[in-house]
Amino acid sequence: MDKLATVEQVSKNILRVLALNPGPFTLQGTNTYIVGSGPRRTLIDTGDGAEPEYLALLRKSLGSCRIDQILLTHWHLDHIGGLSKMLSDTSITTPDCRAFKNSHSGVDGQQRVAEALAAAAKSGRLFDIRDSQEFCLDGAVIKAVFTPGHTEDHMAFTVDEGSGPMLVTGDLILGQGTTIVDDLAPYMDSLQRVLGIQPAALLPGHGPVIHSTGDAVKVIEGYISHRNMRERQILAVLGRETAGRRRAWSVADITSDIYPEVTDPRVILAAQHNVTLHLQKLLAQGKVDRAGGNDALWVLRSAAANI
Ligand SMILES: [Zn+2]
Repeated sequence: MDKLATVEQVSKNILRVLALNPGPFTLQGTNTYIVGSGPRRTLIDTGDGAEPEYLALLRKSLGSCRIDQILLTHWHLDHIGGLSKMLSDTSITTPDCRAFKNSHSGVDGQQRVAEALAAAAKSGRLFDIRDSQEFCLDGAVIKAVFTPGHTEDHMAFTVDEGSGPMLVTGDLILGQGTTIVDDLAPYMDSLQRVLGIQPAALLPGHGPVIHSTGDAVKVIEGYISHRNMRERQILAVLGRETAGRRRAWSVADITSDIYPEVTDPRVILAAQHNVTLHLQKLLAQGKVDRAGGNDALWVLRSAAANI
């Protein structure tokens, strides 16, 4: 994995600033983006709020400029955790700075997230984001793209400086590897939606920026075809016949069949989670069923299946 620069000029009016929170789920840390020209800038995502070094880096990157709007891609702590500290720090934000986050979804019982959002809401400075909402600023136009799936509230943002939309992807698409998904059917729809944008670049929440339309499209198509391949494999396993009969399969058995190379127990758990997401999507589409009402076993609903 190449080491990411902590600060990178992505385009004329976009600066990527790494939130300095590396970890197993954040790769080298969360990318945050300062957008715009002139003295008032927009910040997309805020890191997890635990690293004073990141806030210092942000101050240094801003110089005499200040953030007057903060856009949040989704509720995960590594994207919104820095919000309250920033809103109360006039060396980073203007006193009238406003924050925007889509209001869908709870926060899965995560207290620090709930507290951070409640504090911003109480100050009257946290606002909803609608799909396609535009944010005008000096040097760019930002537009929200509702992209649920990674989480229920997920928003990506196009940033257009006049030469085509670049896409800030949040955790919909990462700069390397694959992302974790809450709900697969809307996630696949979200990938199709951003593919339709034909973005000029992908600015991910984690990992390196992807710099051309050709590479951006290749990455999005790769995400789609990888998930579709797994779905075909699951349907093929469930449709397999032994002596003319199909059997019912557990998630664990399907997983070991289609991920034979995986032996690390943590990776097996992640793979089983993926298989479960696919089965839930296929169940909703009427292609699979639970065997005889048994929660643990799955069968093909053969009449509806299209392998
Ligand atoms: Zn996330």
